Amino acid sequence: MFNKSYSFDKVYVGKFTHDADFLEELNSFCVQNDIRTGWISAIGAVKSIVLGYYDQDEKKYYTLDNLKNKHLELASCMGNISIKDGKPFAHVHVVVTDEEGKSFGGHLMPGSKVFAGEFMIQALTGEDLNRNLDEVTGLPLWKD
Ligand code: ZN
Repeated sequence: MFNKSYSFDKVYVGKFTHDADFLEELNSFCVQNDIRTGWISAIGAVKSIVLGYYDQDEKKYYTLDNLKNKHLELASCMGNISIKDGKPFAHVHVVVTDEEGKSFGGHLMPGSKVFAGEFMIQALTGEDLNRNLDEVTGLPLWKD
């Protein structure tokens, strides 16, 4: 099992910009504040969401396009920040719910639009945690 240890740094608390691209705004925030390792949580609502599903046999992401342009609650969002291609990269999973409380979940993809949202980011200090292609899974996973 691979692991590294970190110390707590600042906790950032904020709100998303209305109409912002959900993932892009998180990544930009991390770059602007030099958050290289950390933990993300958020709640709110989205105007549109693009979720990804990783097909383990085909080793590729499929996007669930059926939730585009649907107004949904952001019931849960958690993710982490590490380094990919030399830059801070947010890996985020979400659960969204519709008007009947039905939930949908998955890997957050670019193209999702925020209606309103509040986030907390726990920044950590320590050695960079780098993502590199893992041959077995086909995913950019944490490596030494
Ligand atoms: Zn994921």
